[in-house]
Amino acid sequence: QATYNQKIDYVFKIVLIGDSAVGKSQLLARFARNEFSLDSKATIGVEFQTKTLVIDHKTVKAQIWDTAGQESNFIVLENILPKEELTSSDDRYRAVTSAYYRGAVGAMLVYDITKRQSFDHVAKWLEELRDHADNNIVIMLIGNKSDLGTLRAVPTEDAKEFAQKENLFFMETSALEATNVESAFLSVLTEIYRVIS
Ligand code: GDP
Ligand code: MG
Repeated sequence: QATYNQKIDYVFKIVLIGDSAVGKSQLLARFARNEFSLDSKATIGVEFQTKTLVIDHKTVKAQIWDTAGQESNFIVLENILPKEELTSSDDRYRAVTSAYYRGAVGAMLVYDITKRQSFDHVAKWLEELRDHADNNIVIMLIGNKSDLGTLRAVPTEDAKEFAQKENLFFMETSALEATNVESAFLSVLTEIYRVIS
């Protein structure tokens, strides 16, 4: 990345959410490093990667957060958050969740087009987003693994309709074949830029 000595005009925090194994980490690897791994390890805790790009002559640093889901983040965040914030498991859950969403201006809500259940859970993820994230957060619904068309369990039209109803952007992607990945992240970043500038 050509970020050396570069002036950063904006930092946009984007969170990746969705069921486990839908391809969140591989979408991030594809976007940030143009890499893909078929036997990707389950994400432990929270991690983020950055990618710097230019939008409308401004240098924008995308800081993209990836997580395995709430449970495994406790270990990581216990070392960051003050002990008094972590007295019960309920408190721990809330502290971790709010830390993850804090300051996020964009979200990629990912399901797997071959796993109906991962699409059925999208509404639940949306509820969590709307509980914890900023009201103006830009949300992109992503149907990943579009390369596995023969195993499709979620019709594109169903997702499109849902996205329209819920006011989300929508795209089908393949982290494996690098289809629409750049385009999905760029759309979200451009929309965030449009909203804040
Ligand atoms: P996460 O739990 O949501 O972070 O999912 P991962 O990124 O770890 O991916 C889970 C599995 O799906 C891994 O075996 C990946 O190689 C695979 N995978 C991810 N994206 C794609 C894709 O676009 N196409 C195909 N065929 N497999 C994918
Ligand atoms: Mg992961």
